[in-house]
Amino acid sequence: VTNNKLAEGAGGEPVLLKAKPVATALLERVAKQVATFTVVPKLVVIQVGEDPASSVYVGKKAKTAAKLGIASEVVQLPATCTQEALLQLLDSLNTEPSIHAVLVQLPLPGHINTALVQQAIAPHKDVDGFHPVNVGLLGSGQTPYAVPCTPLGVMHLLEAYNIAVAGKKAVVVGRSGIVGKPMAQLLLQADATVTICHSRTVNVATITQQADITIVAIGKPNWLTGAMVKQGAVVIDVGINRLENGALVGDVDFESVAPLCKAITPVPGGVGPMTIAQLMANTVALSVKALSNG
Ligand code: NDP
Repeated sequence: VTNNKLAEGAGGEPVLLKAKPVATALLERVAKQVATFTVVPKLVVIQVGEDPASSVYVGKKAKTAAKLGIASEVVQLPATCTQEALLQLLDSLNTEPSIHAVLVQLPLPGHINTALVQQAIAPHKDVDGFHPVNVGLLGSGQTPYAVPCTPLGVMHLLEAYNIAVAGKKAVVVGRSGIVGKPMAQLLLQADATVTICHSRTVNVATITQQADITIVAIGKPNWLTGAMVKQGAVVIDVGINRLENGALVGDVDFESVAPLCKAITPVPGGVGPMTIAQLMANTVALSVKALSNG
């Protein structure tokens, strides 16, 4: 995506960091790559229970894979499925050579230990990058089999819109293993000066007010307000919140924040589509690694 306004650092209207052109280009690249393969990459998505939001995400993942020529299988397990049964299933997928990528849709029902499940997926099939081996490789500056899709998608979006990260003050609000922590790692690797805030951070606003780049991933509707951001900041809204009236909003109060920004992601249409595109790219990368190893 070329963006003269950003390159010039001009004021005025903020640049909308729309995912569509970036995600589409990434998906086209993945499809072209898959078309050259003799072995079809295969992704298995496991859903336990029938959480409606999870069903939507799982459906989107399978549909996108099909469009690209990636084989996918959705395994639906009842909410009552035991932890042991799930671990056994993962064990069998780990040893099945035709399967290159496995993910378990979160959140899991309360009786299942999420960390145990994440550890049960073989690191080389862990397309979400949540296995401790992959987390450790990322944290130690080595190359993981896969990097978590949402933060990697955000980095891709920043790059596509020519937003410089090196030397910038970046603040990540949220410290989950899915978004906040890997996001901070990736920004650090890209030479930003990174601060992580969370629910126990005292006076978050004084920290976000200093940030050149603020990334919010907390799951609180319209939480970041204009009073909390610096003029000319870049704001990335990872949040997806469904309001009682059915509206979908992010963690950023777009109305008060956008006028202050150099660039900002819309919700929906910002980070979300990048996550799915990145998942497809991760799937193909895992299959390439598997085939080149064996
Ligand atoms: P989690 O609930 O796992 O983590 C939330 C984090 O936010 C925690 O670290 C928590 O702090 C912190 N937090 C909560 N309230 C506050 C507060 N008032 N001030 C500062 N920090 C706070 O959420 P996820 O990381 O899984 O997801 C975050 C959001 O991103 C959700 O809206 C989710 O739907 C969305 N999401 C979007 C994706 C996409 O593709 N666009 C993908 C994944 C998630 P503490 O650790 O102290 O509890």
